[in-house]
Amino acid sequence: MKIGIIGAGIGGMAIAVRASLQGHDVEVYEANDFPGGKLSEFRTKGYRFDAGPSLFTMPQYVDELFRLAGENPSDYFSYEKLSTVCNYFWEDGTALSAYADTDKFEEELLEKLLIPKGVLKDMLADSRTKYELTGRIFLEQPIHKLKPWFSKEVGKAMLKLYKLDIFKSMHQLNQKKLKHPKLIQFFDRFATYNGSDPYRASGILNIIPHFEHHFGAFFPKGGMINITNALHHLAVRNGVKFHFNKKVEKIRVEQGKAKGIICDGENIDFGAVISNMDVLPTYKKLLPNEKHPERILKAERSSSALIFYWGIKQSFPQLDLHNIFFSDFYKEEFDAIKSGSIHHDPTVYVNISSKLNLTDAPEGCENWFTMINVPHNSGQNWDKLIPEARNNILKKLSRILGVNIEELIETEEILDPRRIQLRTSSHGGALYGTASNSRNAAFARHANFSRNIKGLYFCGGSVHPGGGIPLCLLSAKITADELSEF
Ligand SMILES: Cc1cc2nc3c(=O)[nH]c(=O)nc-3n(C[C@H](O)[C@H](O)[C@H](O)COP(=O)(O)OP(=O)(O)OC[C@H]3O[C@@H](n4cnc5c(N)ncnc54)[C@H](O)[C@@H]3O)c2cc1C
Repeated sequence: MKIGIIGAGIGGMAIAVRASLQGHDVEVYEANDFPGGKLSEFRTKGYRFDAGPSLFTMPQYVDELFRLAGENPSDYFSYEKLSTVCNYFWEDGTALSAYADTDKFEEELLEKLLIPKGVLKDMLADSRTKYELTGRIFLEQPIHKLKPWFSKEVGKAMLKLYKLDIFKSMHQLNQKKLKHPKLIQFFDRFATYNGSDPYRASGILNIIPHFEHHFGAFFPKGGMINITNALHHLAVRNGVKFHFNKKVEKIRVEQGKAKGIICDGENIDFGAVISNMDVLPTYKKLLPNEKHPERILKAERSSSALIFYWGIKQSFPQLDLHNIFFSDFYKEEFDAIKSGSIHHDPTVYVNISSKLNLTDAPEGCENWFTMINVPHNSGQNWDKLIPEARNNILKKLSRILGVNIEELIETEEILDPRRIQLRTSSHGGALYGTASNSRNAAFARHANFSRNIKGLYFCGGSVHPGGGIPLCLLSAKITADELSEF
């Protein structure tokens, strides 16, 4: 069958590979002149920056695609496991390294925060339990169908429902289990991994640390961009045809069936269409005359990001690949995001890929991807908010690192929610589609198939099972299973 895919994001490329391995004739239409969507790169004045994602977990989902195609993943794509997952800094001078080795991390917690051994491991064991009880159900199956609900796994999870902490917020749960404010903040931050708010998101999201501290955090050789390159080349090797600079205008539907697309005013026929574009604009722009799932389209969007890509003419030995400079006003920071604004003391994330990929910055310099969580774009005055945030970030980093950072910036680019929306069509520039701030968030996401239009599928961060690279790759797996039943 001829299959048309709209969008060459991570999810779009992964489903292209899977569909072509199912024997379909696959074509991808991409609005940009490059693949990868949010996962792209750019270069300026001797510096290279990964533009979007910086944290890579669950690399086995990328490997799986190569194996499916009968290839050895390491011939095309390699990565290293991080021994220090992330460095954390607070205003009072505390600096903490989260080591991948939990024994070493516990020693660090004891030395820096006087947290007795066992506390971290208990917390990670709880995370593991939550993952083992629900991970396969919610992340690897089509939960919008009845079949997965009549399985042994669901029965087992139901019996242990009390262990899932669905009815507490992440913060309430962490506060109850941890007591130490800095360790609570450390665990609360995992809510931001899918653009959510730990003071509102359900305690079930405490499965997230399991990804980072059990499976591990990784860095792809050559930078995050090589995830995009690897998938793009794999798809091409397997016969997928990419059309760049091709913005799809409409999905053609006849008698309840997806029949093809309209691009550059031309009708192109397909037996099935898969949208990797955000589901909201897919309905509003490409399917204006069809019935819309309004309740799903109105679900709260995840947070977005404000990023300053700085070429820094100094190197900082106390920093690593991932660095967090925590706000002293964590609750207020999320309250500000909820109200559509930015707190004056935001938590700042600095990613420095040149720590591992030395050619990403000139010698003695570093490429700082400096990011804060911000609300999605709902028409705020960004031209006022951005310089204010820049100033607050610079003051904070300079305070904690004891150096005037502004004087060290030799090149600067900025990405804000408006530009994320413009470049990827993600509604409001939300990074992860819908937020997971409500208990039923998993069900508030669109399924990977359309109930009303036969032969129409959805794959990527705005639909089931959610945003982030690993979930987009799982989204492709679930969509491929649906497609095989068409
Ligand atoms: C700044 C930032 C930081 C992030 N950090 C992380 C991280 O550290 N770790 C992590 O795992 N995830 C992270 N994410 C999230 C992750 O990048 C996304 O969840 C994932 O890349 C989304 O992939 P996707 O398949 O949904 O497609 P997208 O990347 O959203 O791409 C969709 C594609 O569809 C194309 N398109 C849209 N409309 C049309 C149309 N009409 N016609 C043709 N093409 C169209 C777009 O041009 C785009 O290329 C981050 C995202 C951002 C922006």
